[in-house]
This record gives sequence, structure tokens and C-alpha cells, in this order.
Amino acid sequence: MIINNYHTHTKRCGHATGEDIDYVNYAISLHMKTLGFSCHISHTDFELNASYLKDIQKLKEQFKDKIKILKAFECEYEDDLIPYYRNLVETKQVDYLIFGNHNTTYNGTFYNFIRPFKDVTYLDVYYETLKKALDSHLFTYICHPDVFLKGYLKWDEHAINLTHKMGKLLSQYDCYVELSGTGYRSKARLKYNGEFLPTYPFKEFFKILKQYPLKFVLGADAHAPEQLNDDAIKYIEDMKDELELNTVDEINF
Ligand SMILES: [Zn+2]
Ligand SMILES: [Zn+2]
Repeated sequence: MIINNYHTHTKRCGHATGEDIDYVNYAISLHMKTLGFSCHISHTDFELNASYLKDIQKLKEQFKDKIKILKAFECEYEDDLIPYYRNLVETKQVDYLIFGNHNTTYNGTFYNFIRPFKDVTYLDVYYETLKKALDSHLFTYICHPDVFLKGYLKWDEHAINLTHKMGKLLSQYDCYVELSGTGYRSKARLKYNGEFLPTYPFKEFFKILKQYPLKFVLGADAHAPEQLNDDAIKYIEDMKDELELNTVDEINF
């Protein structure tokens, strides 16, 4: 069970189901303490972003005696969007921002890290994008840092080198590094040692990150109310226990 979950989507992103209130009611029935809504930010529809924040604010007030509700977004890194993100944080319209590195525009080229790719340049761009995001100091919660494995689909020396570089980099910033439930729910699998495994969280990846002084957090990354407490949660909890990761249960945003 995740008592404080900071990674929850809503149907606004187009690939989640259920009403906002269904997530809240289910979280209360589970006796959860915190429910952080962190739907994907729209890069074009700023009105939708604003109305989402307004809706969550209402729930926050309505349920304040039963559960702590937080307002957030999961964001991609794009140079042009940084001032918009900064304003959301500085004017306290959000409680926090999550960085999810699914895709980016780098030197004019668009890179998608979760669609199959073979070109190892993607791994360098993935790293540089993470660095830019961390340097903005807008993101304290880094979700599924191993999501590049969904596109790369290989655990080889390039993936291992990248993971060490990320461990070094992440340990220079005050941030939380997530094990996300979504990779288990997705159909994508990575063949490793004769087994077909969820691409993230990937145990070998976190074995390396464990060698660096980092704080880890479990995130449901729920795209349906019942995903606040499903088999994927059990999978990430078991991995955390097996690797004895230094996990934080509650974050004071
Ligand atoms: Zn994500
Ligand atoms: Zn997410």
C-alpha cells in the first residue's frame, strides 16, 4: 500500500479513466493520507491546465478533513515551456511538478524515448534532457527515470553507462527518484537473462542507482482509480524491499 501517492492522472490526458472524485473516494477507502494529482500538462491548451487546477483545488477544500489532496503536473522538458512552468511554481498554483522524460525537442529534433529506438544518441539526449530539467530547479520528483528502457528495450553497456551517469547527476540535486507502477501495467517487456520483464522499474537499473546517495519514492502513476492499489503496486513494493532502497514515504511539498 502506498499511503502517500504523488503520481495520479485524470481522464484529461486522454489515456486515464474514472472521474476525479472516484480517485478521491477510493483513496479515502484505502485510508490513504495523501493523494497528489499530477496529470500530464498540456503544451497547447493552457485553459485546460487552468481548469484542471481549479477542479483539484475544489476537491482539496471539499475533502480537507479526510485526505490531503495536492495539485501538480507531470511535465516534459521543453525550453519554451520553462517560463510557464516557473510561473506555476512561483505563484503557487501547483504544490509541485513531476519531471517525466518521455520526449523532448533537442537542437531542433524531436525525440520520443518510449517508442522503440536503436540509435544510442537517444540515450545521450535523454541524459542531457534530465540535466536541463534538474538545472531548472522546478522538479523535485523525478518519475520513472528508467522509462528510456521502454524505447531502448535492451540492458547493455550503453544502458549501464547511462544509469551510472544518471546516478551521479541525480545525487547532486535535492530530489526524489520514483519507482513507477506503469511499466508493470504496460505490455512492453524487455528480455533479460531469458526472462521477459517490465521495462520499468527495472531491477538492474535500480541496483546501480542504489550505489548513489539518493532518496527513492514509490509512485502508483495511476491512470484508473483501482490502480492506487493493484498488482503493480505490489511489484514496485517488492522491488523496493528486495533491493533495500532508501525510500521516503512522505514528502513535504
Ligand atoms: Zn509518465
Ligand atoms: Zn504519469
